[in-house]
Amino acid sequence: MTTAKTPSSRRHRSRELLLEVIRREGGVTRADLCRLTGLSRSAVADSVQDLLNERLVVEDVLDAGGKGAGRGRPSALLVAAPPRGVVLGIDFGHTHVSVAVATTDGRVLADQHSEVNVDAQAAAALDVAAGAAHRLLSQLDMTILDVRSITAGLPAPLDVRTKRIKSASIMTSWAHLEPERELGSRLGGPVVVVNDADLGAGAEVRFGAAKGFRDVVYVKAGEGIGASLILNGAPYQGSHGIAGEIGHTNVTSQEGWCRCGNRGCLETVVSSIVVEERLKAAGLDSVPNPDFPLSRSGEDPAITRIVMASGRILGRVLADICNCLNPSMIVLGGVLGTAGKPLVEGVRESINLYAQPAAAAVVEVRTAQLGLRAELMGAVAQASQRALYQG
Ligand SMILES: [Zn+2]
Repeated sequence: MTTAKTPSSRRHRSRELLLEVIRREGGVTRADLCRLTGLSRSAVADSVQDLLNERLVVEDVLDAGGKGAGRGRPSALLVAAPPRGVVLGIDFGHTHVSVAVATTDGRVLADQHSEVNVDAQAAAALDVAAGAAHRLLSQLDMTILDVRSITAGLPAPLDVRTKRIKSASIMTSWAHLEPERELGSRLGGPVVVVNDADLGAGAEVRFGAAKGFRDVVYVKAGEGIGASLILNGAPYQGSHGIAGEIGHTNVTSQEGWCRCGNRGCLETVVSSIVVEERLKAAGLDSVPNPDFPLSRSGEDPAITRIVMASGRILGRVLADICNCLNPSMIVLGGVLGTAGKPLVEGVRESINLYAQPAAAAVVEVRTAQLGLRAELMGAVAQASQRALYQG
């Protein structure tokens, strides 16, 4: 029946069209493909068989739940096969670098956490990240050639146009650097660098506490305090990428100087360094779980009181954000977020006191479900999404 070149080139075009639809729809039956593309049943059947043979598409073993089942026989769902290779996720904190190697569908194969003064020693931090990535890949018998995409998060506002760190008064050792180029040349492949709180927010919306919410404020309360905004389901970075820099909101005129050069910023009062010092003085010294270091803060009345007081100060700033943006969910991440219930209660108290009642009534406050891994998992998720999109 197939005699000339025309049918085979038509079959190739059908194959390309079907692959695009399967990637876009993320789970369709053969009947869906006929409807969505206008191709005949036999054309769809032939091209789908080609895609299955080439392992670009796999059949989901689950019943399609009657979707397109037609004559009583369950139809298999067709999904795009995860691309071969791995992805890299990198999380720079102010004093640490975490690196993870994961499959292209986001399963972590190996990861490493290193302490380094990221703020003051940009070159050293970049070297540590690249060294860890190469070491992890080599442990897995892989090289950078096996890596499909790389995403890294930095704890600073990034200029959306130049991709450099925006504020010269924060992380000064990075001021003259282009992080994507520096990291890319050390790793030997292209890197996408984004703000770390944006990655934490993405991970909590996709896998964690904010799943299903469309108007979310994710607060990364660590050694610095930054927020990431998701408005109407989309990340919002502002005109130049600075939106969410709540750590430098003035809350007092009496505390010490901030690293930004001002006095009385939120960070100088409730950064994790300040709060942990107070907690240590009150007797909290054990770290039961490195991903949730303050998870025992509800067990002792003095410690609970310190965490609640910190929550009230943070909540005072978040109350204004509730009035301004009317979010439905606030997720508290970073080291402070791992303190759990007493922190949520403190934040809640201030929101109830200072936000407009209607805005306070609709907002839920939760701590990050992924703990300190939120930013790293967000980097992995973003890198794997890009790998899938690239095919
Ligand atoms: Zn400041």
